[in-house]
Amino acid sequence: MTDGVRRGERKTSGKDEKVNENKELTGKVALVTGASRGIGRWIALTLARQGAIVLVNYNGSRESALKVMEEMESFGGCGEAVGCDVSDFEACGRMTEEILRKYGHVDILVNNAGITRDNLIVRMREEEYDSVLDTNLKGAFNTIRHLSRCFLKQRSGKIINITSVSGVTGNAGQANYSASKAGLIGLTKSVARELACKGICVNAVAPGFIDTDMTGALTGKVKESAVASIPMKRMGSGRDVAEAVAFLAGRCSDYITGQVLCVDGGMAM
Ligand code: NDP
Repeated sequence: MTDGVRRGERKTSGKDEKVNENKELTGKVALVTGASRGIGRWIALTLARQGAIVLVNYNGSRESALKVMEEMESFGGCGEAVGCDVSDFEACGRMTEEILRKYGHVDILVNNAGITRDNLIVRMREEEYDSVLDTNLKGAFNTIRHLSRCFLKQRSGKIINITSVSGVTGNAGQANYSASKAGLIGLTKSVARELACKGICVNAVAPGFIDTDMTGALTGKVKESAVASIPMKRMGSGRDVAEAVAFLAGRCSDYITGQVLCVDGGMAM
């Protein structure tokens, strides 16, 4: 996926896997929302390994975000943990203003923060619908809206929105979540069209079934049947998603915009 030096080893999914340590993001400032755990944590660590200064956004899990910072510092990465509820427009404005004041620019924005409140449509409460839309879809609007002037001014930038295969195919029991993720694809494509002529790339990554806290809550039976529906017959890892995000954040993807890259072991094809 990248042409840099690859070295180091880490155990994931029971197999030794190489860690991408090219430094092509050196000097770039990246904001990753929802980076205190799961996929966001992997994205933050991967971008930091490639040299980016990473702002690790969290909402409730401050301790976990600080642990991510410690992990980052252990290999020479740098950045800081920034608390903010992305569903709050004003709070996002304060967070981005503070980041721009301190670092002067943002080059990479990864809208990863997301929640689920699964229920069948006949039982879904208004609060379950609204909270998922507010975090997953409006949260991305909020950060993009507050940083778009900065991207336009510098005539460069990479925006990567973490959607889901549920937003591509729909999923029973997830009307709220699928709507938010399908909306995120529409947001991605529209903003990509608006910003393309200024050299700003806006893409989405659609993970399939990834081993994190979000899927950890599912029963063994549900997991088994989900894995059975994946052509590659395994859950993905946070690292699988993070590598795709790093590709879209780097210069190898400079001519790619408005796309949805499924990282799903073939689930949605
Ligand atoms: P986790 O539940 O493991 O982590 C969610 C992250 O989002 C946490 O860091 C959490 O921070 C943060 N977050 C939640 N609400 C907010 C908020 N209002 N403001 C700021 N941060 C918030 O989820 P995953 O890592 O599994 O998922 C990450 C993304 O990937 C989500 O967008 C999800 O929809 C998507 N995805 C996941 C899949 C999977 O199989 N796991 C499949 C497809 C897509 P805190 O703990 O501090 O609140």
